[in-house]
Order: sequence, then structure tokens, then C-alpha cells
Amino acid sequence: SPQFIIDGLKATVEGKEILKGLSLSIKGGEVHAIMGPNGTGKSTLASTLMGHPKYEVTEGSVSLNGEDVLEMATDERARAGLFLAMQYPSEITGVTNADFLRSAINARRGEGNEISLIKFIRQMESKMKELEMNPEFMHRYLNEGFSGGEKKRNEILQMMNLDPSIVILDEIDSGLDIDALRIVATGVNAMRSEDRGFLIITHYQRLLNYIKPDFVHVMMQGRIVKSGGPELAERLENEGYDWVKEELGIVD
Ligand code: ADP
Ligand code: MG
Ligand code: MG
Repeated sequence: SPQFIIDGLKATVEGKEILKGLSLSIKGGEVHAIMGPNGTGKSTLASTLMGHPKYEVTEGSVSLNGEDVLEMATDERARAGLFLAMQYPSEITGVTNADFLRSAINARRGEGNEISLIKFIRQMESKMKELEMNPEFMHRYLNEGFSGGEKKRNEILQMMNLDPSIVILDEIDSGLDIDALRIVATGVNAMRSEDRGFLIITHYQRLLNYIKPDFVHVMMQGRIVKSGGPELAERLENEGYDWVKEELGIVD
């Protein structure tokens, strides 16, 4: 069962410190949610964990099954089992969804263990059906002209195909109507297992009605300031974040 440990993580963007000592541990079988006001550094955390070059780690550590994640390049992190769905997935002209997915799957499986074309197509067709995606998406350029909801479904399609051990979803609910949200949540829930841990980053509690977290963390000003169970998400939904600030004496 995987073990992912973030300890005292500090990171800067363009010289400005955004993550200010964030700690969080995720084990296989667990679903953690991070909620927090806009601009608090949630997406910065996701990008930093994936090794985006704009985000510089200045202190702290991140490990997956005892291995130093910060020492790995982005593709090595993916190969080690980290999966990240971005808040704003990028478009890649000239690379079809099928090409992209097949090479990502093969990178994860390793040399000499490549997926056969026929198996790839079968797997893709069944997953796309589960996500109620049009089969023609396979042949479209990655994310090009996709609607917000289509991009999000496509991220979940990638996740389902890559069999990651730690999944980080950054605002996978943003821009989704209730039907799309239900489909995406069903896809995520089907992937829940003892061999996989989840970190769900969201601004709204709504998503957590569909993906029930074991732990809820409040992030403010670059660190986790409070942790609890699902009831914490409900209180944030009803009362906002001011009571947390008051309780902890946080001034913005
Ligand atoms: P959240 O996801 O919680 O809304 P972000 O991580 O997107 O917050 O942003 C946190 C802070 O970091 C903001 O002040 C934002 O402007 C800054 N920031 C994040 N990414 C960049 C970037 N690539 N360039 C400059 N500033 C950034
Ligand atoms: Mg934001
Ligand atoms: Mg964000």
C-alpha cells in the first residue's frame, strides 16, 4: 500500500513564497480533501508536487514509498505512480488523445511491457463508455477545443488508464454541471482501493457529496491550518472560512 508524505514543504513562485511549510500524509485507501479560499496556494501545491519548473522548493521534503519525489523529473514522478489532474489542463496541438494516452501508459508500464494496440483500444473504449465520452475523442488533439467538462472527463480517463498509486485532482469539479460531476465522481469512486490514495483539491463542498473524503484539511496562506472529517467540509460550506480565521487568529 502506497505511502505519500509531504513534510514542511515551502515553495516560491517568481521569488514569492506561496507554500509556507505544508505537511500532509496520505496512505493507500485514504481520500483526503483540501479546501481553502482562492489564492491560498492549492494549485501551487499541485504544480509543485508534479515538478512544474516555475515552482521552486526551498524547504521540506516529499516522498513516495520512501523515495525522494523532489529528486525526480516530472516524467519520473508519473512513472513512480503520481498522477495529477490540473485545474487548467493544457492543449497540445498535433498530439491526439490516443497517442498521448498510449505513450503515457507505456511509460508507466516500462520498457518491454508495452500495452498491445488491441488491448489499448479495448481498454480505452470501455473506459470512455463508463465516462459517457464520445469515441471520437480518441482522435482529437489533446484538449484542443474541448469544453471545460470534456477536459475534466479526459483527465479522469487518463487517471483510469494509468493505474496511479497517488492521485491528485485540482478542482476537477470546476465548470462541471451536475450530470458531468456525477460521472466524474463515479469514475473516481470506482478507482478507490487500498492500493491508491487520493488528494482532492476543491473550493466547494459540493464535490465531497459525491466523493466522500476520510479527511478534510483547510489550507490558508500556504499551509494546512486545520484538519478533520467530512463534517468540517459541511461547516465550511455553511459558514465560510471566517470562523477558522477567528479561531486561529489569522489576519489577511
Ligand atoms: P489557489 O489554487 O488556492 O486559488 P494558487 O496556487 O493558484 O491558489 O495561487 C496562489 C498564489 O500564487 C497567488 O497569489 C497566485 O497569484 C500565485 N501564483 C501561482 N502560480 C503563479 C505563477 N505561475 N506565476 C505567478 N504567480 C503565481
Ligand atoms: Mg484559484
Ligand atoms: Mg487553484
